[in-house]
Amino acid sequence: MPVTRTIGEITLTALDDGAGPFFQPRERAFPDATGADWARADARDPAAVDTTGRWLLRFRCFAIRLADGRTTLVDAGIGPADSPAAAWAPVPGHLPEELAAAGIDPGEVEAVVLTHLHTDHVGWAVTGSPLRPYFRNARYLLQQAEYEAIDALNPALRERLIAPLQATDQLSLIDGDTRLAGMLRVVATPGHTPGHQSVLLDAPDPVLITGDLLVHTLQLIAPHLPYALEVDPATARRSRTGWLAEVAARGGTLATAHLGEPFSSPGSGPTGSAAGRPRPAQR
Ligand SMILES: [Zn+2]
Repeated sequence: MPVTRTIGEITLTALDDGAGPFFQPRERAFPDATGADWARADARDPAAVDTTGRWLLRFRCFAIRLADGRTTLVDAGIGPADSPAAAWAPVPGHLPEELAAAGIDPGEVEAVVLTHLHTDHVGWAVTGSPLRPYFRNARYLLQQAEYEAIDALNPALRERLIAPLQATDQLSLIDGDTRLAGMLRVVATPGHTPGHQSVLLDAPDPVLITGDLLVHTLQLIAPHLPYALEVDPATARRSRTGWLAEVAARGGTLATAHLGEPFSSPGSGPTGSAAGRPRPAQR
């Protein structure tokens, strides 16, 4: 059953598209992590490691429902069995069942924020044969910088993703921080990819839907730690350390794609609390 949180008048629902082991030994993904870092991460996020020491990832999207019923989706998961992620993802996705369980009709999604152009974040964006937008009434929001980097990131996505969205006039390129509706904001968080973006629910106790700003609890404990698949590690580190510090200072919450649990508190302490600051109340 999808996990839901209420932030003011917004309902935020975590939707699991799938789960499985990472395709490499996890030490290759985080070559700078020490044994002590791994021990702390495993203690804090036991669901992210399996009994043989592999990194167990979730592939998660988030639905944001405003008080007036408008719905925005953040990321589009692994996708079906014939999606571009099928070459490496451990399982096909099951987002349609998760949406149904959450009571969300794909036709009522009015915006889909694609945090970046990695295949495990765009899987359900367009589906079928011929390819059509799965969310038929949504505009799809992508950063201009990400669009411009597509040939370096994954040129096949021009035909597999961009062309079908352009054919129905559903692709909307945005440039940097952008207010979507009310307290809903897209914020530029570059580094993992050139035009990576996250979504901020800019409430007094904010929630940052991170995309791949961080991908493992290691990067909560030690935000400077690079992930091997980042395009620009220095920029990624700046984005990550800056945003984790800001969310922590405001007593906020992170909503992540790949960690063992959908919601985490930022900060390096054992329960995620920033130094001297109580955890935000669970609501
Ligand atoms: Zn990812």
